[in-house]
Amino acid sequence: MGFSFILLAGGNSDRFKSNLSKPYQKIGGKTLIDISIDKIKKFSEIDKIVLVYNRKHKKHLKRLNLEKITLISGGNSRCKSTYNALRYLKTQKNITKVLIHDAARPNFSKRLIKKILTHSRNNKTVIPILKLQDALKEKKSKKNVVSLDRSNFFFTQTPQCFNLSKIYHLHKENKNNYKDDDFSLLHSLENIKFINGEKRNFKITDKEDFDLLKNSYRSSLRTGIGFDVHRLIKGRDLFLGGLKIPSIYGTLGHSDGDPILHAIIDAVLGACGMGDIGEMFSDKDKKFKNIRSDILIRKVIQKIKIKNFLINNIDINVITEKPKLKNLKKKIINNISNLCKLPADRINLKAKTTEKLGVIGQEKAIASEVIVTVVKYD
Ligand code: ZN
Repeated sequence: MGFSFILLAGGNSDRFKSNLSKPYQKIGGKTLIDISIDKIKKFSEIDKIVLVYNRKHKKHLKRLNLEKITLISGGNSRCKSTYNALRYLKTQKNITKVLIHDAARPNFSKRLIKKILTHSRNNKTVIPILKLQDALKEKKSKKNVVSLDRSNFFFTQTPQCFNLSKIYHLHKENKNNYKDDDFSLLHSLENIKFINGEKRNFKITDKEDFDLLKNSYRSSLRTGIGFDVHRLIKGRDLFLGGLKIPSIYGTLGHSDGDPILHAIIDAVLGACGMGDIGEMFSDKDKKFKNIRSDILIRKVIQKIKIKNFLINNIDINVITEKPKLKNLKKKIINNISNLCKLPADRINLKAKTTEKLGVIGQEKAIASEVIVTVVKYD
C-alpha cells in the first residue's frame, strides 16, 4: 500500500495579518511548512510528498527545504488546490492512499500519523475529530438563545486519509467543488473511521494562535552547558568561533583547539542529551588531528537536525587576557551564525578577563563557557 501526503499551503492567509504568508512564518528557524514535512519524512510508508503552494508566494519557496518534495501550484480554492495535487498523484505508480493536510496545522504528533496509517489499513477513510467540551448555544433571534446537545457535534481535523482513487473521482465528478469533509458525499464511501484528534493539532488562523504554538514549543525547551580551556603556546594558530585570529600565541590541542566552538558543541550536545565532544570526536582518533572545528560543529548541527532539534539561542563567555576581542565580536558572532544556521541576534558573546589572576591572567590559557537552549519538534 503506497501512501502519499498532500500539504495544502495554497491559501491567501487573509485572516493572518502579516506581509509574510502564514505557512512561511518561522518558529525558531523552521517554517510551518517545514515543521509538518520534516515529521512526515520520518515515515517510510509515505512514498510521495506534495506541497501545494500559492503562485503569489513563489518567492517564499526558497525559505523551504524542498528535498524530495513535489511542488504543485494551487487553485483559487482549497478544493481546486487539492484536486491539482490529486490529479498529479493519479499519474504516479503504486500510490493508493493519500493523506490531505493543512499547512496551518503544523503541531500534530507523530503518534497521530501512526494511528491514521494503522487505521487506514482496514478503513478507506480515516478522519481525526475532536469532541466539544464547552457548552454549545445557538442564537435563534435577538431574545432567544437555545442550548444544544454538544454530543451531537464534533470538530474535524487534518490530516485525513482517503483512498486516492475514490477521493480523486469525488473531486472530479463534483467539478472541483468537493470539500473533503463533505460528509453527505463521504457517506457514500464505505468504512469511514473517525479517530480521536489532538488538541495540540489546532489550526493557526491568527496571531494569537501563532503565539500559542510558540509557547507550546517553549515548554519543550532544553538547556545545555559547555566549558573548554586550551593552553596558549607559540607556533600555533589561534582559532576562535571558527575564525583565525591574529595573535602571537595559538592554542594547543588535538584539533585546531578552538575553545568557543568546543564549548558550543558540548553545550549543544548536552541540551540534546547526546553526550559530549570527546565521545563524538575522540582525541585518540588520528583523523581528527589538527581538524578545523568548524567541520566538527557542522557535523553536530546535522546530527541534531536529524533528531529534530533546533538551536534556540547561544550565550558565550570567552575568558582571555589577550587578544582583546572587542573589535572581533561581530565577526565571530556572524561566523557562528553561519556555522550553526542560527540568526545572529540569537547569539551573544561576552569577553571577560580574570583580572590577571591564574593561568588565564598570565596569558597561558584561554577558556570559554557556553549556554545553549534547543527546541525539539516532535
Ligand atoms: Zn577544546
